[in-house]
Amino acid sequence: MSRYHLVTLGCPKNEVDSEKLVGRLDAQGFAPTDDPESADLLVVNTCAFIGEARQESIDTILGLADSKAEGARLVVTGCLAERYGAELADALPEVDLVAGFGEELHAPGSPLSPAPTATAVSIGRKPPTGPSVPAFDLLNLPRPRSSRPWAYVKVAEGCDRACGFCAIPSFRGPQRSRTVEAILAEVDQLEAQEIVLVAQDLASFGRDQGVGERSIVPLVQAVSERVRRTRLLYLYPSDLTDGLIDAICSTGVPYFDLSLQHVSPPLVRRMRRWGNGEKFLRRIADIRAREPEAAFRSNFIVGYPGETEDDHDQLLRFVEEAQVDWCGFFAYSQEEGTYAADLDAMVDPSLVAERLAELREIQDRITAGKRDQLIGREVEVLVDTPGTARSHREAPEIDGIITVPEDLVAGSFATLTVTGALGPDLEAA
Ligand code: SF4
Repeated sequence: MSRYHLVTLGCPKNEVDSEKLVGRLDAQGFAPTDDPESADLLVVNTCAFIGEARQESIDTILGLADSKAEGARLVVTGCLAERYGAELADALPEVDLVAGFGEELHAPGSPLSPAPTATAVSIGRKPPTGPSVPAFDLLNLPRPRSSRPWAYVKVAEGCDRACGFCAIPSFRGPQRSRTVEAILAEVDQLEAQEIVLVAQDLASFGRDQGVGERSIVPLVQAVSERVRRTRLLYLYPSDLTDGLIDAICSTGVPYFDLSLQHVSPPLVRRMRRWGNGEKFLRRIADIRAREPEAAFRSNFIVGYPGETEDDHDQLLRFVEEAQVDWCGFFAYSQEEGTYAADLDAMVDPSLVAERLAELREIQDRITAGKRDQLIGREVEVLVDTPGTARSHREAPEIDGIITVPEDLVAGSFATLTVTGALGPDLEAA
């Protein structure tokens, strides 16, 4: 039996893709191995969002190439493969196959290939007829039962927006929403206690099918009728309607992941995005009035071309005033093919580093303060593993955790009292 070793980089959407590839490889008779040196097939599901992520992908590929056994094959898939294709294959002779989304991970006739019918695009060569014809629809592939009490469910692929700094639409394509039936079938397959709905632009779910906001709300309601917890990630602020806020609060997981990116009106416009700090503060206040237990996450880009000291001061004031629970700050990354790549007024990297440090210091204080306020309070938690759990305030993998008694069973819920806090993490018993 051929064995595969799969490494996943990047975002939760990539994790979902990997789980689907696992389902496909298992169905094709492959067996997983944690040891890359004993694998017949090495697969890297890459990220290409920004420079740092691309470097991590390249380093991972080269690392696996070093541990590749004689006769084994190294396959690169995911965003780096989709974005750079043949160029990547030419640059990395160590790689045996660069497979874009939906392309087989093993060439027909290869000793590894159990399925003679497979179509594949091998190194550097694409079918003469333009973009590759996917061998399978990655977005709707079946998934194995979740191995964790929670699972991401990707409800759409691609994005129809054109944020100035973002290259994702150029390689993930325009938004393609799945059918509600396919999503609910996957939710049932996963048998998880918590479902985390993800997409590049989640709140726009269904818009490409011409139904818009009327789609995401009933979807959230339908999923939350099936599972104990439904959480949403990647909400574009202009789509945070009253209907969606109500639907999120009704799931029992009032968690709002708002990708704001900046707050200064001229800079947000220069990013080709909607909104400003005043609007965002009003929306957050609306939600808190509706649900005082609501938790918020956001992320911001620092050093976007043209960012002034005043823009930065506005963001500092916003972070202080908004008091969100969790926040990520990222240095602007100049991405070829994006609108911003040709803009003037690049910000000096040392100034970017200074601004990042200032923002992170404020946010760390806010996050720790909000955690301290929970000491003595009762929280309902989902136990993820023996000893660790999360309440509605913590999304998996990106927020803090709650340390709980080891005897609580993974997958169970418990109501505990918070006994301590340490930075982003809590203790409860
Ligand atoms: S919403 Fe903007 S940042 Fe997000 S994937 Fe789409 S273009 Fe990129």
